[in-house]
Amino acid sequence: MKTETQNTNNSGKKLVILGGGESGAGTAILGVKEGFKVFVSDKGKIKEKYKSVFEELKIDWEEEIHTEAKILDADVVMKSPGIPETVSIVKQLVEKGIPVISEIEFAAAFTSAKIIGITGSNGKTTTTKFVHHILKNAGVNVGMAGNVGDSFAKQVAETNPDWFVLELSSFQLDGIKEFRPDISVLTNITPDHLDRYEHKLENYVFSKFRIAENQTKDDFFIYDLDDEIITNWLDRHPVKAQKLPFSLQQKVENGSYIENENIIVNIKNKQFNMPTTKLGLQGKHNTKNAMAAATVSQLLRIRKETIRESMESFQGVEHRLEKVLKINNVQYINDSKATNVNATFYALESMESETVWIVGGVDKGNVYDDLLPLVNEKVKAIICLGVDNQKLMQNFGNCVDTIVETESMKEAVRMAYSLAERGDSVLLSPACASFDLFENYEDRGRQFKDAVRDL
Ligand code: ADP
Repeated sequence: MKTETQNTNNSGKKLVILGGGESGAGTAILGVKEGFKVFVSDKGKIKEKYKSVFEELKIDWEEEIHTEAKILDADVVMKSPGIPETVSIVKQLVEKGIPVISEIEFAAAFTSAKIIGITGSNGKTTTTKFVHHILKNAGVNVGMAGNVGDSFAKQVAETNPDWFVLELSSFQLDGIKEFRPDISVLTNITPDHLDRYEHKLENYVFSKFRIAENQTKDDFFIYDLDDEIITNWLDRHPVKAQKLPFSLQQKVENGSYIENENIIVNIKNKQFNMPTTKLGLQGKHNTKNAMAAATVSQLLRIRKETIRESMESFQGVEHRLEKVLKINNVQYINDSKATNVNATFYALESMESETVWIVGGVDKGNVYDDLLPLVNEKVKAIICLGVDNQKLMQNFGNCVDTIVETESMKEAVRMAYSLAERGDSVLLSPACASFDLFENYEDRGRQFKDAVRDL
């Protein structure tokens, strides 16, 4: 993973960091360590905890303004993933030919650790934590970064693992130039964040596939063979890395598949297998995540027994189909992280009992058609929780006998409690963003859990 930057003396080179959040602060720490002259600029307000990082580093920083003269004087610019490429200052930088890169690109140049990069529309965090869990259990010296925990740049500055598992959003991938993971995973692609991609699916898919763009024939690319968006793209844009697909539907020669309810991972005639019923996490989507994680582990030659034990013990991640409590034999499940239709599809699909479904929030142009058969089959009542529930009422009004509107989590949970009967489940899986009634999806999930515990 070494690139040119690593062999150059950076002393005095001007690094400008746009955005003073987690990525920005991590890049500042690493930039200072590597000898750059660092300036941080944020058009919004910077959190106190990051301000104190900049103070401690004794670097120049500003908030609620972009001083163009200083920014356009940079040798290299790290743009935080939250800032779109369309903002004026970024356009000006590009016009001037100043490299604008992401934190991942910047930091990768300063570590010799091997890299497992994980991207996709859904399942990134779960798969990242899954892989990390197995490698930790196997005693591998491994770090985990991306959207989870400390930023990658900070960890590159402060730790020295043999492997990094990185959760990579498409925004992080948009800012790469030479970044090259040894192993890449593409969990799936469904339309999301299209507002950042000129509403063109094509652009979003291109961005996800950048994870493999610099990979060579010595690297590996693990992906969902059942995902037509991925396979169609691969037909037209082959990757150089060795492909290791996973599939629930067909047998593959090299990669992972299901046979007689067993996960099989086959790599160059070496086989790993394990019954799906033994997985700690249920649901087809989690079986796929497990297959991806097992394939990575097999590539690292982790002992089969360790992989099996780790797959049994992995309990998943908060707010992702998280079992909260059973009250009067009703299971309450928090899937607040389901902010798009596809995630909710898998949540509903994994329900094994009659379900009272809490749904709603900020609709990102959702098309609900795929959910209708599942709702007909599994959902007995719908509780809409959002400022504007009209679209939900229209789409699902005819599918269920009971559909109600609520305005707070407390009210929604109390309503669910009164509608659910013994043996049912109550599922919060909103299919929408949370910003109308909550700070973020974590806040929404926590309020759900608090309300359930207060019942
Ligand atoms: P991401 O980090 O990509 O947002 P998460 O692991 O946080 O993904 O999961 C987000 C949502 O998607 C959760 O509701 C989770 O249950 C669901 N999910 C997890 N893995 C998958 C998958 N492979 N396919 C579809 N949905 C998934």
